[in-house]
Amino acid sequence: MARNTASVCRMCRREGMKLFLKGERCFTDKCAIERRNYPPGQHGQGRHKFSEYSVQLREKQKVKRIYGVLERQFRRYFHEAERGRTVTGETLLVLLERRLDNTVYRMGFSNSRAEARQLVRHGHFAVNGRKVTIPSFLVKQGDKVTVREGSRKVARIVESLELSQRRGVPEWLELDREAFTGVVKAFPQRADLTMPINETLIVELYSK
Ligand code: SF4
Repeated sequence: MARNTASVCRMCRREGMKLFLKGERCFTDKCAIERRNYPPGQHGQGRHKFSEYSVQLREKQKVKRIYGVLERQFRRYFHEAERGRTVTGETLLVLLERRLDNTVYRMGFSNSRAEARQLVRHGHFAVNGRKVTIPSFLVKQGDKVTVREGSRKVARIVESLELSQRRGVPEWLELDREAFTGVVKAFPQRADLTMPINETLIVELYSK
């Protein structure tokens, strides 16, 4: 399975903002953005001119990095979003948000999307009672995501549930911590996404 192996904190520094890729560390003063909020590399602290293209490109890279999706898959989401009858940029974000790894993270069963991805692949979750090991699986309204019986003592899941309380669960999801179960109450809305993302720039980039 292809994946981006670059240092995750470098990705945040490249995008100039916290992308929350490292779980708890992101909330501490060990966060690289707190310490060195400038792009990585030899010329990181130099002055830069940003073309329209580079601004659009950075926005796309940022969203890909937040959701841990590579270019080919991201493009597939974009084309699927384009085919829909709703606003392309918003539909793209909703599709990304509906990924099972993101849903698991949003419910609080993991501390980051990367961790969620690994937990899903290792078979710790079931959707509507059936084991699902595909992180890109798209959840839909009414789906019930459960930590499988044998995985309820997995330290990373138990700790994440504890730590994620301060993060809260978005409106479109419902969590029953005691039952290790979350329900997708509705499709996520654009307003549910709190990260600063300008999806119009991505649409402009792909429309060139
Ligand atoms: Fe980004 Fe988290 Fe690293 Fe901070 S600690 S730079 S938010 S991944």
